[in-house]
Amino acid sequence: MFNALLHHSLQLAGKYCGRHKLNILIYHQVLAEADPMRPSEPTAEVFDWQMQLLRHYFTPLSLDEALQHLKHNTLPANAVCVTFDDGYLNNLTVAQPILAKYAIPATVYVATGFSNGLNMWNDRLIHLFADATRQQLTLDDNLVTLGDWQNRRSQAQQWLKKLKYLPLNERLAKIDQFYQQNKATEQAPLMMAPAQIKQLAQYGVTIGAHTVNHPILKVLPEEQQQQEISRSKQQLEAWLGQSVQHFAYPNGVQGVDFDDTTTEIVKRSGFASAVVTNWGVSDANTAPHLLKRFTPWDKTPARFHLRLIKNMVS
Ligand SMILES: [Zn+2]
Repeated sequence: MFNALLHHSLQLAGKYCGRHKLNILIYHQVLAEADPMRPSEPTAEVFDWQMQLLRHYFTPLSLDEALQHLKHNTLPANAVCVTFDDGYLNNLTVAQPILAKYAIPATVYVATGFSNGLNMWNDRLIHLFADATRQQLTLDDNLVTLGDWQNRRSQAQQWLKKLKYLPLNERLAKIDQFYQQNKATEQAPLMMAPAQIKQLAQYGVTIGAHTVNHPILKVLPEEQQQQEISRSKQQLEAWLGQSVQHFAYPNGVQGVDFDDTTTEIVKRSGFASAVVTNWGVSDANTAPHLLKRFTPWDKTPARFHLRLIKNMVS
């Protein structure tokens, strides 16, 4: 399915221009079927060719391998890591079989507070807008007309933005209130339970921590940041019976969602690495607790590959 000449050329470009640079890809969900509310999340079909492309033209590494190479400046050409944030159940049911098919190592960062059947606030909000039997929603004093999928998506995005930086308790109270106002029922659990996280680890996927409640760490007092960070590590270690060495900052934009205080806490909590959501690549000079990530959004293999190479040389 790939244009071999084109991809070999891009592979060569990556080898010479992206020398000693590491691409870390960030994913959230891999959908069994396309979801009109989540057009940017890859389906199994898309994720399959993406992983096949990584296997053919890149050197997929586990995060631990990549960290060792970064430390000694020995990264192989076209080095790449695959990571997932939040701990979605479809990481186990949809993504893992595809990762295994192409022998791609991966890391999944889990927010442990959602492992008890509760969905994340953003998914709960999207679920309200996704109910096709409903044409209107009452949100606070607003009567929102839902209309077609495009309109539902843009309305949902606006409300996500509105609520995103509210204090955690206020945000959750708002979502609860919206469900009550509209007599809505919760969606089935979207996140992995502890036994499913353990199963994913047994398949060889590295499990990392992503706080308990997925807060914007920067706005929390230091003590609360410490609790969010170290409790998620402890919970995962108890569930897995093994050490958890890697961390992902929720939302993850340096200076906006977390700051130097957060990074210090992550270091002293015993994490060997941490990943952000700022775009870019990492090399031997990158601080291991500020590893950049990037995922091309393109829907064709050529553009996907090209953008990964551009990410390395820019
Ligand atoms: Zn997250």
